[in-house]
Amino acid sequence: MNYAKLADYHIHTARCGHAEGTMEQYVERALGLGLAEIGFSDHIPLYFFPPERRDPTLAMPEEQLPEYVESVLRLRDRYPQIPIRLGLEADYVPGHEEQLARILDPYPWDYVYGSVHFIGDWGFDDPKHVDRYTGWDMDALYRRYFDLIKGAAASGLFDLIGHLDVVKKFGHRPASDPTDLYREVVGTLKQAGLAIEVSTAGLRKPVGELYPAPALLAECARQGVPATLGSDSHKPSEVGIQFDRAIDALRAAGYSQIVRFQGRHAIPIPLQ
Ligand code: ZN
Ligand code: FE
Ligand code: FE
Ligand code: ZN
Repeated sequence: MNYAKLADYHIHTARCGHAEGTMEQYVERALGLGLAEIGFSDHIPLYFFPPERRDPTLAMPEEQLPEYVESVLRLRDRYPQIPIRLGLEADYVPGHEEQLARILDPYPWDYVYGSVHFIGDWGFDDPKHVDRYTGWDMDALYRRYFDLIKGAAASGLFDLIGHLDVVKKFGHRPASDPTDLYREVVGTLKQAGLAIEVSTAGLRKPVGELYPAPALLAECARQGVPATLGSDSHKPSEVGIQFDRAIDALRAAGYSQIVRFQGRHAIPIPLQ
């Protein structure tokens, strides 16, 4: 696997309460693989919940955000041999857009992910709450999830969407043909100028498939939505993991380039 032109933009840190290792270990892993860039994108504090509902095993406490940013910026001095991007994985929750804008405003992000992990108060990607899939009509669930993705795109707060079809994480598939739904969602992303990531995290989950699914990625390619690569690393050994699969999927979908981010601008890189 030749990592020379590739970036892994989806990297967590131990601050989130469910990742391990030091930030240096993630960077060292990227250097060992020969990645061109690495970007940290830890979970934003659970700003949309009242303080008593902010589970410390899901995201860093609010007061740690400045220190997270400073630690990424400090790593740039320590590792001048690799660009280290400042990112964040920010939950999109409708009705909390202004609050999120205020949290993001003070910092020099290279990119901000919009991710949907909650439908109402249901953390649907959390294995602890997987029982709540029971009772949902799968088409209704997919519709509801992707309506949130469209809301995230329309909010103007994000540069790219994380794990675009994470609703399939535990193997729940739409009952009907999702072609029209995919076309509509991708149209919203395109119109809003967002990118997506090809995430290898799904390969390590019950669904056993990249995010997004082949048909959804092909629709992204068809409509010209730019793509990045992400491992969603929660330990250093996951950096860049299975990127060969992600590259194959991008090519199969029709991509000939991916993008990197700097200062919230997407810059194309040809796929070698
Ligand atoms: Zn996480
Ligand atoms: Fe996520
Ligand atoms: Fe993540
Ligand atoms: Zn994630």
